[in-house]
Amino acid sequence: MTNTDCFSATTPPTMSFDQAHAFISEQIQVISCVNKVAIRSALGLYIAEDVHSTINVPSHINSAMDGYAINAKDIPVNAEARLDVAGTSFAGKPLTLNIMPGQCARIMTGGVMPAGTDTVIMQEDVQRSGDTVIIQPGHQPGQNVRLAGEDLAIGEIALKKGQKVMPAELGILASLGLSEVKVYRRLRVAFFSTGDELRSIGDTLGDGDIYDSNRYSLYGMLTRLGFDVLDMGVVADCKEDIERAFSDAADNADIIITSGGVSVGDADFVKETLNTMGEVKFWKVAMKPGRPLAFGKVKNAFFFGLPGNPVAVMVTFYQFVQKALLTIAGAQTKPRLQLQLPCTSAFLRKTPGRTEFIRGQITTDDTGRMSVASTGKQGSGILHSMSAANCFIVLKHDDGIVNVGDMVHVEPFDGFI
Ligand code: AMP
Ligand code: MG
Repeated sequence: MTNTDCFSATTPPTMSFDQAHAFISEQIQVISCVNKVAIRSALGLYIAEDVHSTINVPSHINSAMDGYAINAKDIPVNAEARLDVAGTSFAGKPLTLNIMPGQCARIMTGGVMPAGTDTVIMQEDVQRSGDTVIIQPGHQPGQNVRLAGEDLAIGEIALKKGQKVMPAELGILASLGLSEVKVYRRLRVAFFSTGDELRSIGDTLGDGDIYDSNRYSLYGMLTRLGFDVLDMGVVADCKEDIERAFSDAADNADIIITSGGVSVGDADFVKETLNTMGEVKFWKVAMKPGRPLAFGKVKNAFFFGLPGNPVAVMVTFYQFVQKALLTIAGAQTKPRLQLQLPCTSAFLRKTPGRTEFIRGQITTDDTGRMSVASTGKQGSGILHSMSAANCFIVLKHDDGIVNVGDMVHVEPFDGFI
């Protein structure tokens, strides 16, 4: 990555959005620690090796309905059929009889299909008179039957390495009778804010002070991704405090995230500390909001230094950090959903040469047509522009001004913001 090679102590190099992405992707690798855990404890974690099915699910051919199990050859295509009910197959209590021509079996949902039957007629579709049922024509051979292994066949991959264990995956593991599964250890992420102006909730604001909001949005985004978080509070712009905070964070977490202190003015200070503890690159990324960004390693932990502005923190987290953390956590990530929608905002000013993320709102009109509009003021300190948004309008590196009705790239939020 040539742009980082021209790193100088005073002026961080400028990288395009795509270059910064590629640089981070090249450096990270999945966490090495794998644990075999009780399946319930795997919820929210990532599968560490493919899980093969050791049984057929379901294990037997069985009925999908309450009704009567018959042999399709016993019912004429154009005339009604009369069959004798020879017994009942309950779920978990199979009927051991062979069903002979002219016979059928009462069967419950999940009941094993008795020998000699291949089709189930729903109970609503038969007339029962004593031990005889009358079936009208019009049924399909093989209907209402679940085949053995139709959900999972023996030997098939039931869950893939990198898949997240969600409620459906827990159910699949249980359906295979597995009590434990190998997953990557839950990531531990430490974070702190830097800035002498920052106060924590409960403190009184002095002249020029502000409350630290970044730790709370970071807490929210990290927690919703399922990571263990370690909130290390506000760290003053003081060399010793910063050094101690980085050292503690690296000793206790896989990932360190900071906000603030990576702009040109502050950077030298944090940089000095980090140069002695690891290898960290500082850049100006050609994007808006969120120009300054630092990434690298502090001892064994990966470090992401985000800008201080509250919107910039969320945008850089969402665009750079989230995917990287998921990859380190063992996830097989998929590209984000991108839509092309007409933009109804009057005019979006855009300078070619950087990627811009406008906070947007997708709406659907009465005819079901979607469009997108900017949420209004876009300053990187205007956090309610994030709160009002359900997507980013992504104006790519070479794009220029957007006029009303122009099609734009839109990235709907995926629920973590
Ligand atoms: P910096 O990147 O440290 O120069 O900060 C850029 C802007 O973001 C400044 O206006 C800071 O006051 C503000 N800022 C930095 N950190 C935080 C934070 N944790 N919460 C809210 N605002 C912050
Ligand atoms: Mg600062």
